[in-house]
Amino acid sequence: VDIEVVAETGSTNADLMARLPQLQCPVLRIAVHQTAGRGRAGRPWLTVPGGMLTFSLAWHLPQAPQHLLGLPLAIGVALAETLNTLGLSVQLKWPNDILRDGKKLAGILLESTAAQNGGTWIVAGIGLNLQVSDALEAEIGRTIADAPWLARMDRNALVASLLNALAPTLEQFATQGFSSFLPRWNALHAHAGQTVNILDHGQVLHTGVALGVDLHGCLVLQTTQGQVNVMAGDVSLRPA
Ligand code: ATP
Repeated sequence: VDIEVVAETGSTNADLMARLPQLQCPVLRIAVHQTAGRGRAGRPWLTVPGGMLTFSLAWHLPQAPQHLLGLPLAIGVALAETLNTLGLSVQLKWPNDILRDGKKLAGILLESTAAQNGGTWIVAGIGLNLQVSDALEAEIGRTIADAPWLARMDRNALVASLLNALAPTLEQFATQGFSSFLPRWNALHAHAGQTVNILDHGQVLHTGVALGVDLHGCLVLQTTQGQVNVMAGDVSLRPA
């Protein structure tokens, strides 16, 4: 893996996505500060200088893009297990967030493009709150989590731990897909057994008890009309 560190950029995901057709090997791009971080569907990912770990990993996978639905969840498993090993207590929110005490500690943004010689190039972006300010929380408009203990840890050692979990995860996903991550995801599921709403552009699409995820990474909900398997697409989950 080629490792690049920049003091500041708009978005490490955008930087790598722009270079994808020319990449020959995996690249990890770390930004000390991001000025235009993105979440899903163009939503903003806000940062404070020095308070955040933001990086993106570009990787080639043999699967076609439509077989990568479970990949953000597998990446979530790798990151959450690593953070738990480092002494935090985190859980997973479907589809792509890491929670601490029920509040968002980290977000994962997966983007991809079909590779010229088959398979898919993916860019997995991670924004991890290390130490956030009240001002940032006010700007985001909801309470968020951070991890001051991690902020004091050597930054290179933290990135190394996360990369050492992500690389084997991507290799395992390349050969086995999401199935081997399914029980690990469900073991970390923040809303297991809770009633949740699934929102699409602010409208409630489904309400039901979150049971866990299926082999494709869809959220399985028990609703009054029976079981529904929800695809991530652009929907958001809120506790009901
Ligand atoms: P939601 O978190 O609203 O359910 P989502 O999981 O789809 O939606 P993403 O698109 O992954 O969210 O991330 C963007 C959202 O994350 C923003 O709309 C904002 O509410 C929130 N956010 C932005 N910056 C941060 C941050 N540093 N820490 C925690 N949350 C943030």
